[in-house]
Amino acid sequence: MGTVAVIGGGASGMMAAITAAQEGAHVLLLEHKDRVGKKILSTGNGRCNFTNIHQEPICYRSENPLFPWGIICQFGSQETVSFFLKLGVYSKNRNGYLYPNSGQASSVLDVLRMELARLEVEVRTGVECQEIVRGKKHLSIRTGQGMVRADAVILCAGSRAMPSSGSDGSGYDIAEKMGHRILPVLPALVQLRCREEFFKSIAGVRAEGTVSVFADGQCLARDTGEIQLTAYGISGIPVFQVSRYVSQALHQKEKVTAVLDFMPDFAPEQLQAFLRARIQAQPEKTAEQFLIGLFHKKLSDLWIRLLKLPRNRRACELTEEEITAFVSMIKDFRVTVTSANSYEQAQVCCGGVDTAGINPDTLESQYVPGVFFAGEILDVDGMCGGYNLQWAWSSGYVAGKAACRFASKV
Ligand SMILES: Cc1cc2nc3c(=O)[nH]c(=O)nc-3n(C[C@H](O)[C@H](O)[C@H](O)COP(=O)(O)OP(=O)(O)OC[C@H]3O[C@@H](n4cnc5c(N)ncnc54)[C@H](O)[C@@H]3O)c2cc1C
Repeated sequence: MGTVAVIGGGASGMMAAITAAQEGAHVLLLEHKDRVGKKILSTGNGRCNFTNIHQEPICYRSENPLFPWGIICQFGSQETVSFFLKLGVYSKNRNGYLYPNSGQASSVLDVLRMELARLEVEVRTGVECQEIVRGKKHLSIRTGQGMVRADAVILCAGSRAMPSSGSDGSGYDIAEKMGHRILPVLPALVQLRCREEFFKSIAGVRAEGTVSVFADGQCLARDTGEIQLTAYGISGIPVFQVSRYVSQALHQKEKVTAVLDFMPDFAPEQLQAFLRARIQAQPEKTAEQFLIGLFHKKLSDLWIRLLKLPRNRRACELTEEEITAFVSMIKDFRVTVTSANSYEQAQVCCGGVDTAGINPDTLESQYVPGVFFAGEILDVDGMCGGYNLQWAWSSGYVAGKAACRFASKV
């Protein structure tokens, strides 16, 4: 059996190393930080949403939309659950989102590290990998600490998201030197910054609603859930879900508008009738008072200000036009998105190594035989909800297996 070297000790790297070792290879895991799996500890707010039972091709995004699903089908969420159960992690299901029952992300990292040790994977930390060079028979990895030889190499160096965890984008340089094309790497699953000054007055508000994002008049994406309003713009899971499309549009220098609908279950005319009936039922109330109990006070105060209505104006004196204007504020609240937050705040990046240069069944490089890829370094990003870790487990498994097969034939 040959030697497989894995570059990067994140989720995908550990999965690749474990799989190759389980298949019988001698495995080296090279990590430039002082320990492996730092990012895993921050996942799911420290609880690690490690997969999701709802799986569909649209949960994964790429320039080549069919590419991720071919890999997920080889090792899906059920296989992930069984894999972790075997290592000791019992899963807890919250609306399809799976977490370790312990509620601790550290449990996931602990069992992975124990499995690496059980399989005698040689983990070398503090090793900065810089280049992979193909020799006649072997591959060599140039590192800050000298050359490392292997029969197959799996590049799992992550993206640029959360650089403090070690994902500093250096993996893209290694891939580029081998001839791979890198698609623009942009923050995804991230908060969006908006131009309007009024955000300071509504910071801290959380409201159920739908966010739709438009670039040059075209709807890019939409999602519903709890929207969080911050001093600089918008956040929350629905905002995260649409953010990769916004990052791409802004990168293309397009003008991006986000439209917030705070009453998505009501059609505009239904809402108009609902507000009218509410006013009639409480005629003594002011414009400010009749919204109490319907929306967060900071939000209704802002709408009254934007509509330039006197606060003490009686609601029953509102004209049909003014009620229509309220309906627009509630259902069609438009803000201008100026940027996505940076890599430091992003949970993942979209873009990365173009999958056109990668074998879709084995994740092997089409330019350098014996080099495989896994994880976020590839141009694949998942929706929020456990899909990015699922991509790391699936791709790590596929690359680990294929690399072991390759190494055994050298
Ligand atoms: C705050 C936060 C919360 C998240 N929560 C969730 C969640 O709940 N569920 C979910 O599915 N996803 C979540 N994600 C996303 C998920 O964590 C990542 O998609 C996944 O961990 C990526 O794994 P990876 O192995 O591809 O990359 P990484 O985890 O980034 O690992 C890459 C590794 O390679 C090392 N490395 C990089 N370059 C080199 C080099 N040149 N030489 C040697 N080593 C190198 C890095 O130090 C790092 O250890 C979250 C992300 C963040 C930041």
